[in-house]
Amino acid sequence: MRRIPSHDNRYPVNYRSIKGTKDILPSETPLWQFVEQTIREVFRQFNYKEIRTPVFETTSLFARSIGELTDIVGKEMYTFQDRSGDSITLRPEGTASAIRAYIQNNLGEALPLSKVYYIGPMFRQERPQAGRLRQFHQFGAEAIGSPTAETDVEIIAMTIEIYKRLGITNYSLQINSVGDEECRPKYKEILNAELQKIAGQLSTESQKRIDQNPMRVLDSKNENDQKLTAGMPLITDYLNEECATHFAKVKSLLTAYGIPYTVNGRLVRGLDYYTKTAFEITSTELGSQDALAGGGRYDLLVKELGGKQTPSVGFAAGMERLLMILEKKGFQPPQQRPTVFIAAADDAAREWVLTTTMKLRSQGIASECDLLARSLKSQMKEADRQQAEFSLVVGATELESGKALLKHLSDHSQQNIVLEAIAEFFKH
Ligand code: AMP
Repeated sequence: MRRIPSHDNRYPVNYRSIKGTKDILPSETPLWQFVEQTIREVFRQFNYKEIRTPVFETTSLFARSIGELTDIVGKEMYTFQDRSGDSITLRPEGTASAIRAYIQNNLGEALPLSKVYYIGPMFRQERPQAGRLRQFHQFGAEAIGSPTAETDVEIIAMTIEIYKRLGITNYSLQINSVGDEECRPKYKEILNAELQKIAGQLSTESQKRIDQNPMRVLDSKNENDQKLTAGMPLITDYLNEECATHFAKVKSLLTAYGIPYTVNGRLVRGLDYYTKTAFEITSTELGSQDALAGGGRYDLLVKELGGKQTPSVGFAAGMERLLMILEKKGFQPPQQRPTVFIAAADDAAREWVLTTTMKLRSQGIASECDLLARSLKSQMKEADRQQAEFSLVVGATELESGKALLKHLSDHSQQNIVLEAIAEFFKH
């Protein structure tokens, strides 16, 4: 099925989907379903259970957790007042909602470690481009309640397992430690002092960040900023003992699990809540939007949102970017097609065809027949178009003899079957 781009004006319609949103069409859903199923399987094997939270929440939940000074909160959130005057935001990411639900439902009481995952739409008012949408989909997981490096590595290994399972090998893992509330402020001061010296030469975006979030300046995509900050001190040289030990353990476990990585001391990620481990997975198969997934540890977030001090770690990954790679590789998901198309050769057989199709369906056999009163020739064309595995033509003669010719549409072989035993035939 040919896809008509949403900006294609040759097909005048009254309503178009909103810029940056996409219809996922019936020709595309088999791939989505296949990928979602694989992701769920991996989560199940790692013993993560699904959590489904609302797509909108109180605005302050996101402002508080993601950080007032981040791009997401500062300029990308879909925020509006509802009819009661409350400020509501469409979720821009999944962690804040998962943690809100964890606290509100007291999930920590039943289990010392809650392992949850989600798959669903997220909303950010970014400039749309290839791999960047305003409604996009993420899958992600949170391990809430563990301070150990083993948990960080389980999260990273699980993310990578998903890509491996889908045959994606062209990715790279970058890791960093962003420190904690003890060592990070000291490092930020040192970095800030260095950045002040070159402030006038930095991009305006970076200049704004020097005071509030100097580590983001090191993560700038601007080439000139990168050159100017090339020799600056990195957080990895200023970690306190606890963070350094944790980071060393993460690295040694990744090596033990056979997961290649590079340390990128400039990696900070666009959300404020991370402590210690931060990681990102990128792929050269993607264009400028090359980030497939990211995550890290957030030991302070649960407390920040009103819960008990609960060390946690998680990740989030983009569905559309993953699908872009699979499509590029020509990956073909299993197609949804009828097992049998039953065609009526004449009007006398139509009722039998309908009732038999229904009977087969209720016995778990995917079946199709004609609902448009079409000629036999058109019905056969439709059977081909639907890529049915078999076709069966039934008319008055077949009903009389109780037998009909079943055609295997892929190799055109055929055989006579007893109509009474049709369900049994397909069940075997
Ligand atoms: P983030 O929550 O920003 O760390 O994003 C995690 C992952 O979600 C990224 O690595 C991307 O794969 C995906 N992602 C983030 N923003 C978008 C977007 N606007 N459109 C499509 N995918 C996105």
